Amino acid sequence: MSIKSKIENLKGIIPSDVKMVAVSKFHSNSEIMEAYDAGHRMFGESRVQELVQKYQELPKDIEWHFIGNLQRNKVKQIAPFVSLIHSLDSERLMLEIEKQGSVNDRVIPCLLQVHIAEEETKSGFSPEECRHFVADAKWKECSHIKISGLMGMATFTEDESKVKKEFDQLRTLFGELKDIHFKNDPDFKEISMGMTGDFQLAINSGSTIVRIGTLIFGSR
Ligand SMILES: *Cc1c(COP(=O)(O)O)cnc(C)c1O
Repeated sequence: MSIKSKIENLKGIIPSDVKMVAVSKFHSNSEIMEAYDAGHRMFGESRVQELVQKYQELPKDIEWHFIGNLQRNKVKQIAPFVSLIHSLDSERLMLEIEKQGSVNDRVIPCLLQVHIAEEETKSGFSPEECRHFVADAKWKECSHIKISGLMGMATFTEDESKVKKEFDQLRTLFGELKDIHFKNDPDFKEISMGMTGDFQLAINSGSTIVRIGTLIFGSR
């Protein structure tokens, strides 16, 4: 099946109020342009160098999302154009994004990445750390950052009840933070969860942004 028909099929399955980031990491400009020519504009990359190169070479109306682990010394390269950073997970990273947002005179939307899977990883706040980060409210002093919601990845497993439980946890944490800290902030609205293997479970659990790579572009 062509990239175009895969995009069209997904748009038929995914509810219209759920956004789809086409994860194009490791795929070529010509593959991205097939999706672009099918009308798709929202793409995601997980490595800064690759993202910057694609940004320079591809049409400027593409909305680029950064979904990978972000090193502080690389923020300045994506700050001029990135649409949404899905992986804010420390105060030090926040301060660097704030600085580069200021340099570029723009407000950079960010999601707080929360670690919900059982697997060990360096990236993401634990739910408890995320609560503290939000309650601490240093983000309120960052006028060049917009905290727009949460992002998470479920455990890579066939066990659907486990995946569902993890997505539900993220949805519940979102609701809790919304009630306590973002009640009057309409921009805190996104829950980025769901990939090729689990996006339908994620949508059932309240995802507002799915990040789909393999199902659109094939294996990497
Ligand atoms: C690569 C990646 C995806 C897409 O994964 P697929 O299984 O290919 O759909 C989604 N989110 C993140 C954070 C990724 O790194």
